[in-house]
Amino acid sequence: MNALLRALPAVHDLLDEPVIQELAARTSHAYARDRLRAALDGLRAEILDGALDIEPAALVREALARATARDDASLPTLRRVINATGVVLHTNLGRAPLSDRALAAIVAVARSASNLEFDLATGQRGHRDAHCERLLVDLLGCEAAVVVNNNAAAVMLVLNTLAEGGEVIVSRGELVEIGGSFRVPEVLERAGCVLREVGTTNRTYLADYERAIGDRTRLLLRVHPSNYRIVGFASRVSPGELAELGRRTGIPVVDDLGSGCLVDPGALGIGDEPRTQSVLADGVDIVTFSGDKLLGGPQCGVIAGRAEFLDRIRRNPLMRALRVDKMVYAGLAATLRAYVEGRAEEEVPALRMLTASVESIRERAVAFAGLLASAAPEFGVDVLAGRSVPGAGSAPGVDLPTALVVLHHPVLSADEIDERLRASDPPVVARIEHDAVVIDLRTVRPDEEHELMDSLLHLA
Ligand SMILES: *Cc1c(COP(=O)(O)O)cnc(C)c1O
Repeated sequence: MNALLRALPAVHDLLDEPVIQELAARTSHAYARDRLRAALDGLRAEILDGALDIEPAALVREALARATARDDASLPTLRRVINATGVVLHTNLGRAPLSDRALAAIVAVARSASNLEFDLATGQRGHRDAHCERLLVDLLGCEAAVVVNNNAAAVMLVLNTLAEGGEVIVSRGELVEIGGSFRVPEVLERAGCVLREVGTTNRTYLADYERAIGDRTRLLLRVHPSNYRIVGFASRVSPGELAELGRRTGIPVVDDLGSGCLVDPGALGIGDEPRTQSVLADGVDIVTFSGDKLLGGPQCGVIAGRAEFLDRIRRNPLMRALRVDKMVYAGLAATLRAYVEGRAEEEVPALRMLTASVESIRERAVAFAGLLASAAPEFGVDVLAGRSVPGAGSAPGVDLPTALVVLHHPVLSADEIDERLRASDPPVVARIEHDAVVIDLRTVRPDEEHELMDSLLHLA
């Protein structure tokens, strides 16, 4: 212990070390000195605890490494990464990438003042929820729409407004958990509603809902099962049937669609997914869906449907807590405009990735594999058939044919390659299948391919 304490350098001994000078140049001298002091204090405490197992000669190197470790606050924790997983809407990787038009719209309102809540015609105060409502109403064919922070907020707000203190009837097959702790029974409880379960896990009939309706019933709720699917002996009541029951009994019907697909799902290769417009046309009073799933826009939640209910939702004091900012309106409006113009499949990146043909992906994969094999012959590179997935609970059980670049290395294991790809700049997130790192170019932008190549060439 004494030998270690004697060998422990002082802060001023290390200030001239090149790595510390570099850190100081990138941040400030005061910051670099503080980092160094914290590293040395930490080492001293560990020595006194007898917790440091290190040679005295290695202390300086350890102190410098700790002072300049990658967790220093000058590096952002939130960074761009290359998504090579083939999961198009990867919740952990930020879901939908935005279109150029959406990005430009966001930058324009973020850089300057905007008419977020200002009516330019009258010079009076305006309403922020005016910005996307017209587009949503036109696109969806509904009476009214509001935008909130995410779909979880949308569901919470609808339940709290229309059913607080009363019963909400839900099929047992739809009492799902959607990752990130969104669990339907718990959301209902928090919204102040009483859950009335009907049917069974695999089969629920219209008569089950009908029998459960009573004086305390406030709402009939349908929930998209999102990330799981019941197959075999199963049946679910359709939006149209439930809407008809709602009309007959005077009880509002709400469908939490999760993804909210606005284009023909068949064209995206996810034929089973409900189309938002059809659910509303079937007579459902309100639908809710995310802005950053199949819609391909920024994180937000959309509540769309009958004006009488949306007026009440707007007046709920929770609305103020769940509202979105100007950047979200700008990004969402620009994304919706691509749909209005019939250009969504070319312009919205998530839809472009979903509709990319397996032939076009294979062509890119073969060219990429060829370049890699000639630039780094130590790699074993193959192009094999595989599957991509939509992700974010959209179209559970559905996958899309793709072509994977499969990597082998004589020295590095799959886990080591994977780890080094994540440590590269920008980080690359790939997938491991059958003990090999695989790269799915479906979710990699063509202009990111050279960065991905660079990362692979500098792995060792
Ligand atoms: C994804 C999803 C949610 C949660 O949406 P967020 O936008 O992540 O808050 C709620 N319900 C369903 C059915 C979903 O698929």
